[in-house]
Amino acid sequence: MKPAPFDYVRATHPDQALELLATAGDESKLLAGGQSLIPMLNFRLARPAVLIDIGRLGELSYINRQDGTLRIGATTRQAQLERSKLASAGWPLLARAIGWLAHPQIRSVGTVGGSVAHADPAAELPVACSVLEARMTVASRSGKREISADDFFVTHLTSAIEADEMLLEIAIPAAPDGAGQSFVEYSRRHGDFALGGAAVVIPLDAQGRCAGVRITLMTAAPVPWRARTAEKLLEGELPGAQQLAAAAKAAASEISPTSDIHGGSSYRKALAQTLCFQALTEAAAMATPPDVTRVGK
Ligand SMILES: Cc1cc2nc3c(=O)[nH]c(=O)nc-3n(C[C@H](O)[C@H](O)[C@H](O)COP(=O)(O)OP(=O)(O)OC[C@H]3O[C@@H](n4cnc5c(N)ncnc54)[C@H](O)[C@@H]3O)c2cc1C
Repeated sequence: MKPAPFDYVRATHPDQALELLATAGDESKLLAGGQSLIPMLNFRLARPAVLIDIGRLGELSYINRQDGTLRIGATTRQAQLERSKLASAGWPLLARAIGWLAHPQIRSVGTVGGSVAHADPAAELPVACSVLEARMTVASRSGKREISADDFFVTHLTSAIEADEMLLEIAIPAAPDGAGQSFVEYSRRHGDFALGGAAVVIPLDAQGRCAGVRITLMTAAPVPWRARTAEKLLEGELPGAQQLAAAAKAAASEISPTSDIHGGSSYRKALAQTLCFQALTEAAAMATPPDVTRVGK
């Protein structure tokens, strides 16, 4: 199928894109890498009157670190983030997550901001943003605002970005010293959307006990799902196999994934438990108490 007719404008500056959004509003769509939007246009699931191409806005393509926070511009390609030494030095989970995302050809065109704004609960980057407690900066002609990952993902394919707003930046706070990080998923063929997945951050206190564990499950709900009950269960515990298994069980018991042709709800719950345990085990093996880290520096 071919898309319904639309006007096309290539924005040459972020302000121009915001101006166009303010004028066209609901009638318009931003085009970044086009790896999700173009198929949606072809299937006529989206029929914008105006397509505003922001894919070549160099001003929004950057990865830098300021005061410990990793700042990623919205039009940064997924492959750039995957290869970034700056990102992998503090947030190895990001490259692990992107390694699962589609295929190298798609990652070289798809943008980080496009994936986050698309808000698919089966996508890797929204899950990474959730577990890393990212903050998204969005702008309209009347100003900027910052949204936490918890508030950003509203439901399936819906974010908190308004029709006249554009995502500018994803900011990821420094991970706690020595925290172990892991991202695992399962799909039938590499590059397919995941049937299940889990992202985990495990910080330890000086006694080697869990202190502020974060767990986000993929494809478990209409949004990336923070498994808060399981997180609380691990607080103050040593990260032994028994404790991690109990947490993975608790995480899976929190979710009610929907059945589809790729897998039933009970299969997806069982998969979530297995993958969560794998991610917890891997992150726990990487985690070191803060004092040990400091000595090592
Ligand atoms: C064969 C195939 C396999 C794929 N597999 C996976 C996979 O396994 N995991 C996965 O996560 N993705 C997968 N994708 C999707 C792909 O990676 C996309 O790159 C990504 O979802 C969207 O990024 P994009 O830059 O292409 O955005 P686009 O397609 O250009 O835009 C997506 C949506 O976000 C909006 N948008 C884009 N940028 C902004 C912005 N700055 N501010 C506000 N709104 C914005 C657009 O208006 C649109 O609604 C796959 C795609 C294909 C074709």
